[in-house]
Amino acid sequence: MKQLGEHAIVIGASMGGLLAARALSDFYTIVTVLERDAFPAADTPRKGVPQGRHTHGLLARGSAVIEEFFPGFNAEVVAQSGGLIGDVANDVIWIGHNVRLANGPSDLTGLIASRPVLEGHLRRRLLGLPNVRAMQNCAVQGLATDPARKSVTGVRACVDGRSEETIVADLVIDATGRGSSGAAWLQALGYAPPADEKVEIGICYMTRTYRRRPTDLDGQHGIVVAGSAPNWRNGVMLAQENDTWIVSTGGYLGDDAPDDDQGFLAYLATLPTMEIHDVVARAEPLTDYRRYRYVSSLRRRYERLARFPKNYLAFGDAICSFNPVYGQGMTVAAEEALTLHRCLRAGSTDLARRFFGAAAKIVDIPWDIAVGNDLRNPHVEGARPPMLRFINWYIGKLHLAARHDSTLANAFLKVVNLMMPPSSLLSPAIVRRVWQGNRRPGRFIPPRAIEGQAP
Ligand SMILES: Cc1cc2nc3c(=O)[nH]c(=O)nc-3n(C[C@H](O)[C@H](O)[C@H](O)COP(=O)(O)OP(=O)(O)OC[C@H]3O[C@@H](n4cnc5c(N)ncnc54)[C@H](O)[C@@H]3O)c2cc1C
Repeated sequence: MKQLGEHAIVIGASMGGLLAARALSDFYTIVTVLERDAFPAADTPRKGVPQGRHTHGLLARGSAVIEEFFPGFNAEVVAQSGGLIGDVANDVIWIGHNVRLANGPSDLTGLIASRPVLEGHLRRRLLGLPNVRAMQNCAVQGLATDPARKSVTGVRACVDGRSEETIVADLVIDATGRGSSGAAWLQALGYAPPADEKVEIGICYMTRTYRRRPTDLDGQHGIVVAGSAPNWRNGVMLAQENDTWIVSTGGYLGDDAPDDDQGFLAYLATLPTMEIHDVVARAEPLTDYRRYRYVSSLRRRYERLARFPKNYLAFGDAICSFNPVYGQGMTVAAEEALTLHRCLRAGSTDLARRFFGAAAKIVDIPWDIAVGNDLRNPHVEGARPPMLRFINWYIGKLHLAARHDSTLANAFLKVVNLMMPPSSLLSPAIVRRVWQGNRRPGRFIPPRAIEGQAP
């Protein structure tokens, strides 16, 4: 591939930064990933990624893109760390709109492993490339520029606690996550910051890990419960390496799960299925309860900026972080890495405009899925145009039909897994199935009536 420069820097060695660095490695002689943390010796959670202690599902699209960048990645996580590969539509139970979707075989292959394991494998594969290296304990303080402040020429960073030094590069990518200082760095250079869009959801994850028995959940790999009226509480339980379950639950806008055994079980009992509750009630806990408060989905509109310095990009959660309940962040970062690769194949001229424009198109779909679904909750503030109300009504009807129709369930899960665009759910064949499925008698299901329902 055409070489575009001597040195590229990625700030942040989490999932976003690692994937960005993989894309860059085909175009720059040396790629350096700068990370404030020290990398843990084992695949354990670390300070800079506090969400790493909580449930992370890698969507089918994310797993496919990572496999494309690092062939054999999925099998390696299974063989070396005990991750699980499964059929996302058949091996996982999905409940939304108080309806349990029919399970059925699909081509949606997913990889399940804890977040530190996914990141650890990705980091080792990346650093196995001959032209990629990492600097740990390296806290980036700001950008270095040319005297006219038109081009970024590197970063200013403190390495191993020493005083600030400049690390020179032909391209700098900010992958420091949702808390990115990118807007402040731009302002310090005389540029306008990107406009923010926020949708306040006030989700709090309460998470605990348990021992997993082979008979739990009839051998299924997990269960995902998306909140719906009346209580809008979410719950997820996923199999992890070392025969464990990770369980997270929480509601919107302060409706938090308690961090004591009795309260936690009582909270799980209010979900529209007792399946998570029943496993947790019998299982041996392996960790304490952990809490993560997530105030709002946040999108930074970099693509709308009229002026932007050359040789600088933002990436991953630094551009957009979504309500984590939908499990999209890592997959969106993977998609952005593919797009970055595509943009670099066309050269580095006008890179920011091309990349941010393409990244905005990637973000549009998962943002609309996440925000659109959150706005079903009447307490979440935001505009609800007629089209959104129609889509949410239609998706509710689709769920009702899909409790008996695995083809329909699979079509929906392909969209949720970012394999197909939402418009695919409006094809004549799917609309016909939704209509037919809603003609069946007994279509209204009171929330708790789905408990134990056969697929
Ligand atoms: C509770 C929760 C659950 C989630 N569940 C899922 C899920 O199920 N599926 C999914 O796909 N996504 C999920 N996500 C989102 C996912 O974690 C992120 O989208 C993903 O980690 C990509 O983020 P990132 O790499 O861009 O940023 P981050 O993961 O936030 O990483 C930023 C990195 O930058 C480093 N850093 C920060 N500042 C500096 C600095 N100044 N100098 C050097 N280094 C710095 C940090 O130490 C860190 O390593 C979840 C998020 C949360 C909060």
